[in-house]
Amino acid sequence: MIIKTQLSEKEMPTKFYNISADLKEPLPPVLHPGRKDPVGPDDLSPLFPMELIGQEVSQDRYIEIPEEVQNIYKLYRPSPLYRARNLEKVLDTPAKIFYKYEGVSPTGSHKPNTAIPQAFYNKKEGVKKLTTETGAGQWGSSLAFACNKFGIDLDVYMVKVSFNQKPYRRALMETFGARCIASPSIETEIGQKILAENPESTGSLGIAISEAVEQCVKSESTKYALGSVLNHVLTHQSIIGQEAMIQLEKEDEYPDIVVGCTGGGSNFAGIALPFLGKSFRDNSDIELKAIEPSACPSLTKGKYAYDFGDTGKMTPLTKMHTLGSEFVPPGFHAGGLRYHGMAPIISHLTNLGHISPEAYSQLDVFKAGVTFAKAEGIIPAPEANHAVKGAIEAALRCKESGENKTILFNLCGHGHFDMQAYIDYFDNKLFDDKYSESEIAMALSGLPSVG
Ligand SMILES: *Cc1c(COP(=O)(O)O)cnc(C)c1O
Repeated sequence: MIIKTQLSEKEMPTKFYNISADLKEPLPPVLHPGRKDPVGPDDLSPLFPMELIGQEVSQDRYIEIPEEVQNIYKLYRPSPLYRARNLEKVLDTPAKIFYKYEGVSPTGSHKPNTAIPQAFYNKKEGVKKLTTETGAGQWGSSLAFACNKFGIDLDVYMVKVSFNQKPYRRALMETFGARCIASPSIETEIGQKILAENPESTGSLGIAISEAVEQCVKSESTKYALGSVLNHVLTHQSIIGQEAMIQLEKEDEYPDIVVGCTGGGSNFAGIALPFLGKSFRDNSDIELKAIEPSACPSLTKGKYAYDFGDTGKMTPLTKMHTLGSEFVPPGFHAGGLRYHGMAPIISHLTNLGHISPEAYSQLDVFKAGVTFAKAEGIIPAPEANHAVKGAIEAALRCKESGENKTILFNLCGHGHFDMQAYIDYFDNKLFDDKYSESEIAMALSGLPSVG
């Protein structure tokens, strides 16, 4: 009986997969925040190295993974693929459930998959320092790990509510040599402005992005890195799905349904888009399920429109599913899913009907996570609990219909740094945080107008 499929280092994919090459309808252009016309490389070069700007607009199906990056990947890749046989039994479903486990990385999530190549390309182009933001700390700690590997300094603006709730993530960043600043901070003009208006502000990803971007553009040899949303980030994460495809092939399996949780869309893209691209190329069917929190429901309740990526309205405008860049989601525990927008590629594919989004509340999601932990022995990150919930729901639908479908989901991280969330859940202190309808309506009424 096979439970776990391991690949050897030699079997690790050596190229990233870029879905842009297989899109029948191209992505809408990214617009300059002031001019409202399409951005060019010169607009982005203060923020990103040229190689990443090139990948952002690349139409090449495959992009070579540099050898230096492959060598660091080998610290934790290829990651294992598991068959969740115990969970199948608990659910009494005829479905087969497979999951790819990204919790084996140095920081316990999929984020190093893009942090490592981003740090590498910056180093190659002479960058001395990076700035970034982080929500729950997953991205900040992953980039801290990668920057340390390539000798780059790093300043991380961490959303204040998480900075206070998750001191261990901060310690992890500091262990790898990064500086971690609670956002909003007095180190930037936007931070000062927000604190003047609301000294009690607990921050948001949108605010932290503004701070990191502001600090980056003020300094010559400093660039900025983003852990999700952008095309090149989704491309780097394709290593997950490509590995899963090889692993499933070894077991003579192919998924009917692929499930992932969506904050900015990168881990979902990582597991799902290599399969979607293949289905485009051979005209086959595949069902993709993007699972989001019902307290920050950008795909299911947001508007598909041009919007800013940050609260300070400094970033370029992208067409995406958005709740409005001024929307501050309630403080639920899946910090990595508290973002007002969505990756333009995921939004585009959802709009074309290739992805079906589902939203679940915090309590339902933790219940699913505990069921999974008891069955399989891994405690998922609160974000990953959303993917678990989506997979369980799909398996239960198979039970109802008697279909023995194959389900693949991404267990994008472990929850070892998030045990307070589990403590709160067991103490009945977790609530189904409701977003405020009127706040979303207000944030959406402030969407920028484009010609
Ligand atoms: C950051 C993070 C997410 C959300 O980001 P995506 O880009 O949607 O993947 C989800 N899960 C974990 C464990 C994360 O660290």
